[in-house]
This record gives sequence, C-alpha cells and structure tokens, in this order.
Amino acid sequence: MKITFCCTHTKPEPWLAGLRALLPQADISAWQPGAAAADYAIVWSPPQQFIDEQRQLKALFNTGAGVDALLKLRLPADLPVVRLEDAGMSVQMAEYVCHAVIRHFRELDAYEASAREHAWSFRKPRLRRDFPIGVMGLGVLGQRVAQALAQFDFPVHGWSRSPRQMDGIACHSGAQGFKDFLAASRVLVNLLPLTDDTQGILNRANLSRLQPGAYLINVARGDHLVEADLLALLDEGQVAGATLDVFRTEPLPPEHPFWAHPKITVTPHTSARTLRDETIAQIARKIAALDRGEAISGIVEPARGY
Ligand code: NDP
Repeated sequence: MKITFCCTHTKPEPWLAGLRALLPQADISAWQPGAAAADYAIVWSPPQQFIDEQRQLKALFNTGAGVDALLKLRLPADLPVVRLEDAGMSVQMAEYVCHAVIRHFRELDAYEASAREHAWSFRKPRLRRDFPIGVMGLGVLGQRVAQALAQFDFPVHGWSRSPRQMDGIACHSGAQGFKDFLAASRVLVNLLPLTDDTQGILNRANLSRLQPGAYLINVARGDHLVEADLLALLDEGQVAGATLDVFRTEPLPPEHPFWAHPKITVTPHTSARTLRDETIAQIARKIAALDRGEAISGIVEPARGY
C-alpha cells in the first residue's frame, strides 16, 4: 500500500514517522511533483497539480473537519473525500466557545478594565435566562459545544439541516426552524460547514432576528459572515459584541477594522487545532479499515458540500 502526504505549511517528517509507526507495511512518503501514484493521500490545501497527478487514489483524507477548500478543487467524481471527525477538536472548541460566552456574560472585560484602575467595583449580576444561546450546526463540534454550554445552565438552542434530538437542547431544523431558532437566541455560535447554502448566512437579515444586545461567536469559516453587516449592527447597537476566530482573508490584514474594534475579539483561527497524534491515529485506523474492505465514517457528500 502506498500513501502520499501533501499538507501545505506542515513539516512532513513527524507525520510520516507517526504514520509509519502505525502502518509499518505501508510505503509512506511526502508528495513531490511527478511522484509515483499512491493508493491513499493525506492532505491539507493540496495544489490542483497534486490532484491531477495522483489519479489512482482510493481515498483522500483531509487533516481538518472542514472540506470547503478541498471541494473547490477539480476532484475525480468517484474519489471518496474523508474529513477529520473530532480527533481532539471538539473539546478545544467547547473550551473556546464556553470561554467566549462566559467572558461576555460575566463582563470580565469590564472587570479587567476596573482592575487596571485598581478599582474594587461590582456590576449587577446578569441572569442566564436573559442569555439564551443558539448553536448553528449540531454536528461533531456543535453537539459538544451545545452540551458544554448546557452544563453551565444556559438555555441552549441548536439548529441543523435535518431534525435532531438532544437532551437539554431545544433543537430546530430547516428554514422555518431557523427563524424560530434565531428569535430564541441572544448569543449566536456558528459551527456550520461552509457550503453554497451557508455562505454569507451571518448577514444583516439573520443577525437582526436575534434578541437585542446579541453576541456573535464565529468559529466556523470567515465566509459565513458578511463583515460590513456586522460592523453596521455593532454601530447600531443591535449586536453588542463578537468573538471571531475565522475571517474571509486569513491572516487578517493588519489594517482590517476588526483588529482595533472595541467590541470585537479576534483570534487567529485557533479555536480547534488539528492535533497531530490524534489525527494520525484516526487516519491510520481508517486507511487500515479501507484496505481490509471495511466501511468507514466521515466520507463527505459532495452534493451537500460537507
Ligand atoms: P459536521 O459535518 O459534523 O456538522 C455540521 C453540522 O452543520 C450538522 O449538524 C449539519 O446538519 C449542519 N448543517 C450543514 N448545512 C446546514 C444547513 N444548510 N442548514 C442547517 N444546518 C446545516 O461538522 P463539524 O461539527 O465537524 O465541523 C463544523 C465546521 O466547523 C467545519 O465544517 C469547519 O468549517 C469548522 N471548523 C473550524 C475550526 C476552527 O479552528 N475554527 C476547526 C474545525 C472545524 P445535519 O446534522 O442535518 O447534517
């Protein structure tokens, strides 16, 4: 079995060593233009040349959960694309989102500002029932995030394409469900995949349906957000603030207004990082299963885009 590794901006050596330890029978190497055809590929943002040259692949493994960039390439129609499923990302996402929610809800920015002035001052406690949270996307990451928020006794709503049931979460689905979901939410957490249906979904019309004093946490993809709409809604006061981890242009350009905006917290696409050991273990397990002719989970449906 031959495996090729083509992850942009990643040093291949530690990945190759980890894969070789788990798949000792496989011939595993980093891709170079003109390399021999492989059976399986492990990729992140590969060039189109890689896809065009590697015509005998039985599966393409993405080292991230989101496949939006990969699906923009011209891929053979019958090539299975496999996404990463959790592999240590859901706990990171839960801690990031809970931190952002709690920091906003408990007004920790204001307390930190007071502390810088050496001022021992209290703010009126806020009520959880006034901060219902809506989680867009109830997949691997969204479910973990929704459950973690519910553990802190926040009212939590979730929205997905197909109907779901989750203990302690008010689940909504589809287009009509979306309106009810937005109207029921004050804090909005985006964990949708980026698809034709979800591109630009964080826009004026939808953000205006949230409860007044809304707060946005975007940890999915920058193209979900219409940036000018958010800036306008912050100015108008309909949105009280935002924590943004993902952006239309990454790295976020130094002159971008989000950096210095007093109501926006920016992090550099770091809410849930790909963890090498967990990722290698998951992909190696799936390659071994495919090689034995067994079915695996995490195969992307190109028609729906995730
Ligand atoms: P999943 O595929 O497991 O879950 C996707 C969820 O979104 C599902 O519940 C799905 O509905 C729902 N969904 C998809 N399309 C629609 C739609 N049109 N309307 C309503 N709901 C929809 O993905 P993950 O949870 O693993 O990852 C989610 C995203 O998080 C990734 O695609 C990626 O963009 C982002 N991400 C960001 C990271 C970061 O560091 N910032 C790290 C990792 C991922 P249904 O249940 O019906 O299928």
